[in-house]
Amino acid sequence: MAYAYDDQNIFAKILRGEIPNDTVYENGQALAFRDISPAAPTHVLVIPKGPYVSMDHFTQEASEEELVGFMRAIGEVCRLEGISDEGFRAISNTGHNGVQEVPHLHVHIIGGRPLGRMLM
Ligand code: C5P
Repeated sequence: MAYAYDDQNIFAKILRGEIPNDTVYENGQALAFRDISPAAPTHVLVIPKGPYVSMDHFTQEASEEELVGFMRAIGEVCRLEGISDEGFRAISNTGHNGVQEVPHLHVHIIGGRPLGRMLM
């Protein structure tokens, strides 16, 4: 599948500094910031800095450096938030069936309380 990236999406605007965000962690390849509508005590979104719509797009087209930097950012966020040991959930809502609202790849890191079983 060929992906078209909409550079007017809200996370693209956050990356350009046009919209403020509550940054938790940043490296050369990724930005992590608090979700404006948190579902748990920790609710952080990790996004790649590159223009990728989804995990499928990212894993096909991103460089090794981007892939590694993004995954390291997820680990760093969990350690910084103190949820690595007690556990958390990492979710990437994707496409129509996944009810993805923002068309820029993002992983929700949710934790800080028992989350229960996922509803299917
Ligand atoms: O469904 P999806 O995973 O695309 O959800 C996007 C998330 O982005 C929502 O949890 C929403 O609260 C969050 N968001 C945000 N800051 C914005 C706009 C959306 O944290 N400015």
